[in-house]
Amino acid sequence: MFSLPVTEIFSSIQGEGPYVGVRQIFLRLPNCNLTCPYCDTETNIPLQFRMETVPGSRHFNKLNNPVSLEKLLELLLQTYDFSLHHSLSVTGGEPLLWANELQVLLPLLREKRLKIYLETNGTLPDQLLQVLPWVDVISMDIKLPFGGQAFWDVHEPFLRYGLQKEVFVKIVVNTETTPQDLKDARDLIARVDSSIVTILQPVTKTHDIITPKPYQLLEWQNLFLEKLINVRVIPQTHVFMGQL
Ligand code: SF4
Repeated sequence: MFSLPVTEIFSSIQGEGPYVGVRQIFLRLPNCNLTCPYCDTETNIPLQFRMETVPGSRHFNKLNNPVSLEKLLELLLQTYDFSLHHSLSVTGGEPLLWANELQVLLPLLREKRLKIYLETNGTLPDQLLQVLPWVDVISMDIKLPFGGQAFWDVHEPFLRYGLQKEVFVKIVVNTETTPQDLKDARDLIARVDSSIVTILQPVTKTHDIITPKPYQLLEWQNLFLEKLINVRVIPQTHVFMGQL
């Protein structure tokens, strides 16, 4: 059976997007194909992953990487009551880098009546197709261009494939976001389906990152509402709740 390296596993509250507030089991996987300037996630493969056995306790068991899918399934079943959770959030890093392994794991979890919520940077459309039959909700980032790279060519087919399931789009915005990049993102979504729920997520303030001004967020929401039906501004809420 396959094995998989894991970063961490915990049960907590979804802090982003339209599902904010629901209870989820989080399975964070390492590695990423992007290097976003505002990234706050450790993406290297750790020798051991951590698993919070009592939610909110901040007591973690350390387990060796990689873990067999059989063992991972057993750990999840033994530790968490699936019926109390909305879904399993498969997050990263970029979880679709592990599409071969997820193709095996996700059907086993769905057999146990756990829905699958995929958090992805939306740049790997072929890998999305590999796991799509077992995904219930797709939280897709649209990454605005950075470092001379743009991702429109892969975002558009990704979003079209995502329409086969429930999909929403999240765009992180900061003080340096340009109206042209936002228009390009808006037009891409409108070409696919103007009713797709679109979240503008102001970047979370840290010591060296400044969050957008109130007037900027309102102007940018207006810009999206010119072509899209359902546009919401939602910050990362788990941060100010002290949740993982
Ligand atoms: S896609 Fe996500 S995990 Fe990857 S670099 Fe960007 S913010 Fe970090």
